Amino acid sequence: MAEHESLEFGKADFVLLDTVSMEEFMANLKLRFEKGRIYSYIGEVVVSVNPYRAMNIYGRDTIEQYKGRELYERPPHLFAIADAAYKAMKRRNKDTCIVISGESGAGKTEASKYIMQYIAAITNPNQRAEVERVKNMLLKSNCVLEAFGNAKTNRNDNSSRFGKYMDINFDFKGDPIGGHINNYLLEKVSGWLGFHIICVFHLQLLSGAPDSLLHSLHIKKDPKAYTYIKIGGQIKITYVKLLVVKSSWCFCCFLQGNLTFGVDGDVTLIENTKQVSVIRDLLSTKEENVEKALLYRTVATGRDVIEKQHTTQEASYGRDALAKAMYERLFCWIVGRINDIIEVKNYDARIHGKNTVIGVLDIYGFEIFQNNSFEQFCINYCNEKLQQLFIQLVLKQEQEEYQREGIPWKHIDYFNNQIIVDLVEQQHKGIFSILDEACMNVGKVTDEVFLQGLDVKLAKHAHFSSRKLSPTDKSLEFDRDFRIRHYAGDVAYSVVGFIDKNKDTLFQDFKRLLYNSSNPVLKGMWPEGKLRITEVTKRPLTAATLFKNSMILLVENLASKEPYYVRCIKPNDVKSPLLFEHERCRHQVEYLGLLENVRVRRAGFAYRQTYPRFLQRYKMISEFTWPNHDLPSDKEAVKKLLQGCRFDHDVAYGKTKVFIRTPRTLFSLEEQRAEMV
Ligand code: ADP
Ligand code: MG
Repeated sequence: MAEHESLEFGKADFVLLDTVSMEEFMANLKLRFEKGRIYSYIGEVVVSVNPYRAMNIYGRDTIEQYKGRELYERPPHLFAIADAAYKAMKRRNKDTCIVISGESGAGKTEASKYIMQYIAAITNPNQRAEVERVKNMLLKSNCVLEAFGNAKTNRNDNSSRFGKYMDINFDFKGDPIGGHINNYLLEKVSGWLGFHIICVFHLQLLSGAPDSLLHSLHIKKDPKAYTYIKIGGQIKITYVKLLVVKSSWCFCCFLQGNLTFGVDGDVTLIENTKQVSVIRDLLSTKEENVEKALLYRTVATGRDVIEKQHTTQEASYGRDALAKAMYERLFCWIVGRINDIIEVKNYDARIHGKNTVIGVLDIYGFEIFQNNSFEQFCINYCNEKLQQLFIQLVLKQEQEEYQREGIPWKHIDYFNNQIIVDLVEQQHKGIFSILDEACMNVGKVTDEVFLQGLDVKLAKHAHFSSRKLSPTDKSLEFDRDFRIRHYAGDVAYSVVGFIDKNKDTLFQDFKRLLYNSSNPVLKGMWPEGKLRITEVTKRPLTAATLFKNSMILLVENLASKEPYYVRCIKPNDVKSPLLFEHERCRHQVEYLGLLENVRVRRAGFAYRQTYPRFLQRYKMISEFTWPNHDLPSDKEAVKKLLQGCRFDHDVAYGKTKVFIRTPRTLFSLEEQRAEMV
């Protein structure tokens, strides 16, 4: 077939494998990667393998090839599903979303950028100035977020440490008129990784900012001058002047790292007091307030309010918590500002007329590290939620359509991961609830208390185990690990740090300090600082609860849209364009649930089309239908056509649509068509 790929490059759609097995899947994936075919399909799902080299497949000519085409007419490509999502939105008036998942470094963010570029390229044929402006801003918002939210990690030089969901709004002409961004869980772990974000940020500034600005912000050019900045590595991203000037105080994040504490008798003090005055300037607050917030904690005991002095350890802890919290609020603030700029402005467009949406979700896939902590737990929970959505949508959509069309439904055997979602998020009995409960304990709350809670409540759960519950389990090295049997595989989590990361650990004194800043932006970011200590009765929501709530909203939002999927695979850990590490890839295929995916697709029908449209495309391949048929209905004509090609066994005839089980049949129809036209 002229337009399609030959088998030399393996099978373009995994649904076409002779048998669905891991071996066959991997052999096909490897062959395609080695032949430079980085994209494949599972039905309508794009499987992508990071090529780690520049590919000449994103240019204007390629865009033209995919524009307005059907999925199976061209070799697998991101552009094809971007186009499918766009067509569904424009022609059928559907909100759609594209869910991109995969592990760190697998190519998610790059994929999301290509998808946006494609959409930008095919819209606004009339070059309306306002639409061009909106498109530009949507594309540029990526750079700003990357500048602030990315880090160089050992897995990815430019790793997004946040999950991002971006809506693009379209008007009735199908042109972009605005957008909105949601971000999820910016990683702000202590230790070098978290603060490396700040390091990159710092280096970017140094590479772009004028000296006068650096001077006014008390910034030294030498990164070695900063304690939090431990690792070099320069990433050039455009220097974002406006944001930087407006939020100069955010440099406090890394200035604070230089503060050290000492003792004099039984008094805790700041050793390098000169730093305090710099911080005072940047925060637009009073020096003695900075000092007090760093060294004391206001506590309410009954009706009395007392100032309790920190130990040096507590003071250092508070200092780090402040830096992290400020950085996180800064990031959310930036997202908020971007949203102000890109939101749909035109009142008429918002209220009247058609306003449809394409959402693009770029979110961390399943993570299994040597040491898995709270962050991996949240990320993997997020992936369980997305898998649940995938199952529900694919199966539900299929089921409903078959019912509508009067086609008998064949049960598909698959693993339903709802039980694991419940294990994590269920009220009272779920792991998040148990964690929150442990955090609410008065007295000494430790990670061990949390683990005990898990053991008591979840001992009988089929997907949970711990060292104590199964002492022979080798995947649990320590008695402070618990293990979850995820849909994608087993992961052992160390409970160390769970309590701390879950609680809002920032002392009220800091919030009050920042609220009392004379800088209105900074003040606006800390509304809780308004409360006096005796008024702080309600506990702030925990990180787990916030994350859970945001995931529930995200899934609800995605569920209301027609979904498209991109599954990204990282072929090796050394960023090599040549190396296909078999075991590494097999693991990802497993936890992305790709085989399951193939099974679901094969059990259903790969392709469906209304009778008139089917005829329109294929009538030339049968004498009964070319140039016109004289049968009583289009349905009868399609039957006749397919019987003539001996494809009858692979087909079901619904009320308004013909259903074709395997893409092979479709390719073959395409082939015959190509011979005729
Ligand atoms: P993720 O967002 O999944 O962590 P990225 O999208 O940032 O991963 O990709 C990591 C790196 O891999 C990129 O910086 C780029 O060098 C390379 N890469 C990813 N996708 C492609 C692609 N389609 N073509 C060329 N290089 C790519
Ligand atoms: Mg990324």
